Amino acid sequence: MQEELSNVIKKIKLLIETDRNLGVSEYFLVKGDVIDNNAKSMQKATRLNELRKRVLECKRCPLYKSRTNLVFGEGDPNADLMFIGEAPGQEEDLQGRPFVGRAGMLLSRIIKAMGLRREEVYIANILKDRPPNNRNPKEDEIKACIGYLLEQIEIIRPRVICALGSFAAKELLKEERSISQIRGKFYNFKDIKLMPTYHPAYLLRNPQDKRLVWEDMKKIMRELGIKNKR
Ligand code: URA
Repeated sequence: MQEELSNVIKKIKLLIETDRNLGVSEYFLVKGDVIDNNAKSMQKATRLNELRKRVLECKRCPLYKSRTNLVFGEGDPNADLMFIGEAPGQEEDLQGRPFVGRAGMLLSRIIKAMGLRREEVYIANILKDRPPNNRNPKEDEIKACIGYLLEQIEIIRPRVICALGSFAAKELLKEERSISQIRGKFYNFKDIKLMPTYHPAYLLRNPQDKRLVWEDMKKIMRELGIKNKR
């Protein structure tokens, strides 16, 4: 017991030192087992916050000029599952949050059907600013922005990434094949399992393919050990 306690103290000292270097100056008290996870979460949240500030200042492409709000991404910094879409639409631009329009409502329903809450996953996009009139992202915009997403992934290090739609899937996997050819299977992305599937906006236009997405989500649930309640 004595030794356990001294180990815990050593661990806490180390965490505090790392946090201080990252600029953390406040702590919340937590009990027992959760201390490691909580400290990890707080460190990740701090790093994401610092990244967010950098993205806010970004002028690598002209999209910052026409945005109402930056849509950086949101969710649990320690999430096991990360969803990655294409770019913010009108509603996302207005609210500064990813996937809050019609497609977002469908994504929220999918997450709920998986037995998860939106706050338990992390949701981000390839582009952080809305392309005018929801046009497709341009090659140079993706080039300018992709590094930020890669940093987000590196900080969060989820166990599974779900790439929503062809832009996200093809960009991350450097794939030429169509989304219908590559969806439904796990691919290796920097030692993280990546599942490409159809974008929720596509599902709104093609509801008959919802069952295929559900098949893909069941594979993710199995991978993460989430019980199917359906
Ligand atoms: N479509 C996306 O790809 N991302 C969003 O945040 C909203 C709609």
